Amino acid sequence: MHILITGGTGFIGTELVARLLGEGHRMTLLSRRQRRDEAGRRYVQSLEELGTEAEIDAVINLAGAPLAGRRWTSPYKRELVASRVETTRELIALLRRQARPPTVLLSGSAVGYYGPRGGEPLAEDAGSEPSFSSDLCRQWEHASLPARELGVRVCQLRLGVVLDNDGGALVQMLRPFRFGIASWPGSGEQYLSWIHREDVVRAICFLLQQPGMEGPYNLSAPEPVTQRAFCSAVQRYFRTLPALPVPAPVLRLLLGEMAGELLLTGQRVVPGKLVDAGFEFHYPTLEQALSDILAPREAA
Ligand code: NDP
Repeated sequence: MHILITGGTGFIGTELVARLLGEGHRMTLLSRRQRRDEAGRRYVQSLEELGTEAEIDAVINLAGAPLAGRRWTSPYKRELVASRVETTRELIALLRRQARPPTVLLSGSAVGYYGPRGGEPLAEDAGSEPSFSSDLCRQWEHASLPARELGVRVCQLRLGVVLDNDGGALVQMLRPFRFGIASWPGSGEQYLSWIHREDVVRAICFLLQQPGMEGPYNLSAPEPVTQRAFCSAVQRYFRTLPALPVPAPVLRLLLGEMAGELLLTGQRVVPGKLVDAGFEFHYPTLEQALSDILAPREAA
């Protein structure tokens, strides 16, 4: 297949592209930076470069400015939205121009779609509570829908926090543990829906190839954990002082609204539709994921 991907240079995209190339697919990557083409991999800086006869079979849409690690000022919030929603709209415009539209569009979203929630398990049909992240995800998902009018199968990827050892959220989360400090944010009772990067890549490849699968999919492991349980699980790999909470007001002061949405509240998301479709997680539990990600490098 010829696959067009946005965000193909990122934490998830890099691994996904490597896997798809390994399976013999031809990749076109939209990237803001000028990059040199490589075997099987063409880079474009604008979708305009693709013309009307691009012969694209599938599209994967992951581009977006990073949500974590920066304060959400008003201009940055606009960038968070525009980098996802405008990119998706530009993709739809490209698909409309094509003599032959692709068969499938897998478009990004996140478990933040559901908004701040308690401990109730959330399948794909759960509604969303208002928050900036949930509004962002709804806009991002909504922008992908017009592709259906072109006969394109559209799936929205509601991604949990993706874990691996060389990037993403885990690198930030582990930093205090490396200095012997174990902690959880706020009450620690809020849920963290996570997924091993290998399972994200596998799940995306699975969705790419299943003709009957459409609509939103939770891409998160079957066993989400509370922040306190996450802290205990990670502590097994580091020598730390006894764990303590970081009070919510401190996090709000240091990180602003981002802390409230990404750390102090959470969602207990379950991958109902993926599991029903027969997808098998290689890392269904946090213990299995951490043992793969951390054990060889961190075990004392
Ligand atoms: P990364 O931040 O690693 O990569 C995202 C890519 O988007 C970058 O490679 C970059 O490509 C492009 N990008 C960055 N900023 C902008 C911008 N301002 N405008 C347009 N494009 C931009 O993300 P991940 O691989 O971790 O995640 C992929 C998507 O999945 C993201 O949209 C993210 O929000 C979402 N997601 C990720 C989760 C995770 O835990 N990783 C959890 C939930 C959702 P280039 O520099 O080549 O243009």
